[in-house]
This record gives sequence, structure tokens and C-alpha cells, in this order.
Amino acid sequence: MRFFNTYSRQIEEFEPRDPAERKIAIYTCGPTVYSRAHIGNFRAYIFEDLLQRHLELRGYKVHRVMNITDVDDKTIRGSREAGIPLGKFTAQFKEAFFEDVETLRIKRADEFPAATEQRYIDRMIEMIGALISRGLAYQAEDRSVYFRIHKFPNYGKLAHFDLTQLQSTGRVKHDEYDKEHIGDFALWKAWDEEDGDVKWDSPWGPGRPGWHIECSAMATALLGDQIDIHCGGVDNIFPHHEAEIAQSEGVTGKKFVRYWLHCAHLLVDGQKMSKSLGNFYTLPDLLEKGYTGREIRYALMRVHYRAPLNFTWEGMEESRQSLARIDEWLARLRETAAKKIDDGKNKTQPGEQFEQALDDDLNISAALGFLFETIRETNRAMDENELDAASAGTWLDWWKRINTVLDLESEAEIVVPPEVAHLGKERENARRQKDWKRSDELREQISALGWEVRDTKDGQKLTRRGAS
Ligand SMILES: [Zn+2]
Repeated sequence: MRFFNTYSRQIEEFEPRDPAERKIAIYTCGPTVYSRAHIGNFRAYIFEDLLQRHLELRGYKVHRVMNITDVDDKTIRGSREAGIPLGKFTAQFKEAFFEDVETLRIKRADEFPAATEQRYIDRMIEMIGALISRGLAYQAEDRSVYFRIHKFPNYGKLAHFDLTQLQSTGRVKHDEYDKEHIGDFALWKAWDEEDGDVKWDSPWGPGRPGWHIECSAMATALLGDQIDIHCGGVDNIFPHHEAEIAQSEGVTGKKFVRYWLHCAHLLVDGQKMSKSLGNFYTLPDLLEKGYTGREIRYALMRVHYRAPLNFTWEGMEESRQSLARIDEWLARLRETAAKKIDDGKNKTQPGEQFEQALDDDLNISAALGFLFETIRETNRAMDENELDAASAGTWLDWWKRINTVLDLESEAEIVVPPEVAHLGKERENARRQKDWKRSDELREQISALGWEVRDTKDGQKLTRRGAS
């Protein structure tokens, strides 16, 4: 398996810290809950979902942490403008985030630590104290604590900035800045009036953490000093991830992250998404236009994560058509598999091309290309009555395997209505009592409701007939 590592700017063979145990620690920067996440944010979360699911398909045990930034410049500004307490202000966007995650079928992380939890605040204070004792941080006359970037020779390595070529502007109190304003960044921000009642006690006086130290604290607290993969959007590279490296390695003295993976931007009609251009979309905006969660999931997933994804309405229509082709194919395969005629004409054996494409820096376009080529070929074989039941079953099993990564099966396939499930249970009982007549009657009844029963070696399977 190979990934493009932002740190080296090279494709590297993936070697986890612990190859024998096959355990992988992944940290992914989560949402800042000051507004509803937009589809560009979800592109990155879907890329991370794809990464986790593929690693799991390849037999790795993934432990993933995604943080929730519920205190920073933006959340404080938002709560002040709304005139409600910070906790209440961020709670609504946390809830919306989890709702959207569910709609898009994004696998939940193992942990979602929130920056305002006291144990993480304690950890941040502990880390800042350690940085000060090592001469890597200092309290300035404004009472805030800053990281001394010139004492950390690797600062700028991730973003590939040559600090000697850049003019430092001294200190930066804001969480976000660019290389034109490079400088010592804030670890602990002394309380000021703008912060209202948002403050914690610290050895440096009342204040609140800077955004960057939050991730270093939560990542090392939950995953240890060294992690395998750290993901985020390209926007996070500088200053956020650069700062995370400086803080974490400044405290532990160990290499913080083995592989840095970053997802490219999402554009809308070729332009950067922005509220002023009217091309700024959240998930509910797309659902309102009649698209389903899985259609949006597909649209955000289908382009390689390092290529910019241009979101268009035509693209949404294409996604809808692609999924319809998959649905139709699955329905045909199920029909063929149910025929139970084995004429031995076709003995197709699915290979590993799909997985191999994803092994190659998560090349989803190649993986999907292989899926659609397979659909074309098996459809042609079915048109000519050349696909036997056993082969159709093999392809269905193959789909089941790759769908643990894609998670694109239609909702109609997944939800078995209670009355169908009930008839299925009765049929299982009838078969256990070898009442074949009753079993066949129940099959008819299930069929009349539009469902199909298949008896497999793993027991009875219910699938929708001719599902679309
Ligand atoms: Zn982060």
C-alpha cells in the first residue's frame, strides 16, 4: 500500500508503527462547530472514511480520533454575535454535524473528543508548561503564551516554507494566518473582553487555548506520542498542522506523525465556494434539491482525493445515473443467482483489481473504473444468457466485499420491512420443521410483497426483487 506523504512530497510505501499487530492510529481534524459544515468539509471527511474502510478491508485494525473544535476565535465570535453562551451555541452545530455524518454514511470515529473537556484543557496546559521549560515557548507582555518558531528548526518543513527567506512579523495571536504573516503563534490566549465568560485558569492567568494546541493535546492524549496517519484538508497544512508538529514534537521529542495525507479543495462550477458568490452549499441544501445521502456520498467520493473536485449539478446527475447502473446490475445478478441453473458456461473469478487500485494512494477513480467495466462485462454475459447462477453469486459476494468500502447500496436494499422480516422468520421456522409446503407458501407471500428469499450456506437472505 502506498500513500502520498505531504511531509516528503513523495509517494511512500505504507509501513505502520506496529506491522505485527496491524493496529493503526489515525487522527483526523474535525469540524469547528461555529456553523453548519459545507460540502467541501464533507469531501475531506468522506476521503478519510474511504481511507479507514480500505485499511480495514486490508485487515488493519484502525483506531481513529476526530476532534471537535468547540472553542476558538470563530466559535467565540459566533456565540457573541448570537448572544448565547458558547456551549449552547456550539451544541446545535455538533448535532447538525452528526446528523450529516449519518446521512453520508461516514463511519463514526472511535472517539470525538471536544476541546472544552477539562481533561484536554489540563493536557494543553501541561504541554504548554513543558514547551516553556524547554525554551520553546514564552509568555509575552500581552500575557499570552507563544511558540518560539525559530527555536524549532523543523518549523515550515511540512508546508515546505523556507523560514530564512520569509520575514517574520513577530507574533500572531489569531488562529489562522498565512506565510505573509509568519510568526510565533499563540498557545494560550490571555483572557480579554472579547472572550466574555469563556476562560479557564492556568499558570499564566485566565485565558483559553489556541486552536493548534487543542489537536496536539487530544491526539497525544488518545493515541500516544506517535501516530501512523494524520489527515485533513490542504487548508490545514499551514499553519495548523505545522504548528501541531512543532508543539507535539517539542514536548515528546519523538516524530509525531508517519504519514500526512491531505485532501484537495472542492470547487463549485470551477470557483472557490463562498457565501458571496451564492455557490456555498451545506448537505441540507442538496437534500432539499431532491438528492439522497448516498448520491451526495458518491459525488464527493468519486474523484481522487488529491485532485480538486469540481462540484456541478451535471456531476450530481451523473452520480445518480452511476448508482442506478449499480442498482440495476445488482438486481439482475440477484435474479440470475436465484435461477439456480448451473450450466457451467461462465466461471468468472473476481480478482483484486479494486483493492489494488485503492492500495495505490487510494485511487478511487481507477477502482470505480474497474467496477463499471465489470458491470459492463457481466451485463453483456447476462444479455447472452452466459452467466450461470454460481458466477452471479460470486459477483454478488464480490460486491458485498467492495461495498464495505464504498457503502453505496440503495436504502431500499438495506431496510427489510417488518412484515417481510416476520414472514422470513416464519419461513425459517417452517424449514427447521421440514415443512416444505409452508416454506414455499411463505416464499410466495414474501415475493408478493416484492422481496426475494435466497437460501445460502449462511442461512436465509432477503433481498428486494428488481430493486432500483
Ligand atoms: Zn486539528
